[in-house]
Amino acid sequence: MMNYINLKTPPVREERLGTGIAFGGTACELRCAQREGCIHRAGRTFSQTQGCQFTLSLGIINTLRNAVVVMHGPVGCGSCSIGNVGTSQAYKRLRDPNAEGLIWLNTNLDEVDVIHGGEDKLREAIRYADREFRPEIVCVLASCVPSLIGDDIEAVISELQKETAATLIPVHCAGFKTKAMATAYDDVYHGILRHLVKKPEYSEDRQVVSDDLRDLQRKYRESRTVNLLNVGSMSWQDETELKRLLNALGLNVRWLPCYSTGEDFCHALESALNVSICGTHDDYFIEHLQTLYGIPFLIDTMPVGRKNTARWLLKIAEHFDLQKEAGRLIDFESRELDLALEQFRPHLRDRTVFLGGGEIRVIAMAEILQDLGMKVVGFKGHHYDQFAEPLFDSLQDVDNVIFNIATQHPFEQINLVRRLKPDLYIGHSGGGNISAKQGIPLLPLFGPSYNYMGYSGVFEVARRIRRVLSNAQFNRKIAQHCPLPYKDSWYEKDPFSYIKKEV
Ligand code: SF4
Repeated sequence: MMNYINLKTPPVREERLGTGIAFGGTACELRCAQREGCIHRAGRTFSQTQGCQFTLSLGIINTLRNAVVVMHGPVGCGSCSIGNVGTSQAYKRLRDPNAEGLIWLNTNLDEVDVIHGGEDKLREAIRYADREFRPEIVCVLASCVPSLIGDDIEAVISELQKETAATLIPVHCAGFKTKAMATAYDDVYHGILRHLVKKPEYSEDRQVVSDDLRDLQRKYRESRTVNLLNVGSMSWQDETELKRLLNALGLNVRWLPCYSTGEDFCHALESALNVSICGTHDDYFIEHLQTLYGIPFLIDTMPVGRKNTARWLLKIAEHFDLQKEAGRLIDFESRELDLALEQFRPHLRDRTVFLGGGEIRVIAMAEILQDLGMKVVGFKGHHYDQFAEPLFDSLQDVDNVIFNIATQHPFEQINLVRRLKPDLYIGHSGGGNISAKQGIPLLPLFGPSYNYMGYSGVFEVARRIRRVLSNAQFNRKIAQHCPLPYKDSWYEKDPFSYIKKEV
């Protein structure tokens, strides 16, 4: 049973899960390496870029409502949040029209603070955030500098918690601590579990405390409620679709953690099941909720693609003994989807695709592509661990497909894509620009305004691919006028030349 709750910080994923961040080979070889437990041993003799867990932590933290973010570090850390301002505000207001947008402060540590320490600046920033904005939560994110100079953030927070109205949540997410940037999710959930999640006041042990009608109604409501763990890369349309499917089974849905308030986390224990949409995102949180409070959880596939969605629904239904109802729902949705996809199939059959992004997303997306008769010629995942394994069950004939594990490292992608010559690149934001310069049409792997999940997600992806492939002229022009910086000698080399062959 997982229990790191008494530690100041959670272990990094290289240690906890044996997460791998460097690999080049086939999908079959990758899965073998993971099963044999040796994937985490690989590294690179040259690294071009890397992810930072501070930035990824903001993927959750920036979505919280009634919250102020205090970034404790140099002013550059987290400055990428500027790109989230619009989405964050729009999404928060879908939940609450009066919600504030994204508010963050930075302690702006400099050379003098590196010598004298940054705790005073942090105290000042927390007091200012509490006094000026009166938020429900103040999240303090510790970057590399305070972690290296030894600022005692926990001590500052426990000292100030006595005088602030807001709940203070420390997130220890210094970028240098890990190369598996998904450790960020554990850091955020660690702070939430230690400071926000509490047992409901009405009961010590989540049992009915009396036969009062209200208690019985609450008990019944809880027994039909699932916490759905959303991810920052989901859209409102994705949430609407998954909620529609679970409501059709008679289940209530509570969304956590993205776009939630502190109050929402206070109700986190009032549910019968915690359901993950992405194991990479949630395992730390929901396994702890089981260890500490006895709430069961489900981590399996991501509901992207028809088979993945059906499997995800059936697993949830099993918990509530609703298999027959789920079976009928799946048959109905599948028939409707077949009719809707008919118009796209002739245009998409046998077209080839390269997929790049989070490993859970890329493998799940491959199911949609195979459903449409398309062919996946290559994968690139940010990292790899056990949570990707169930997603392969919905795929056919991918054992010999190239799989590159690399967080960013565009030089490997550019070489691979040039060899594989796909008709389409589907990728994580930030990964598409280089393939656009290769003249290849692009589709984002996810997006805040589009539906990818559930049955309607399959239709939407098909519709958008059809449109993107119908005219690739724009990217052909980009390729003609925006040359890439790589020399021919790099394209002649093995794309995995800089990955140590230790697995
Ligand atoms: S790696 Fe460290 S210094 Fe760089 S952005 Fe991340 S937290 Fe800041």
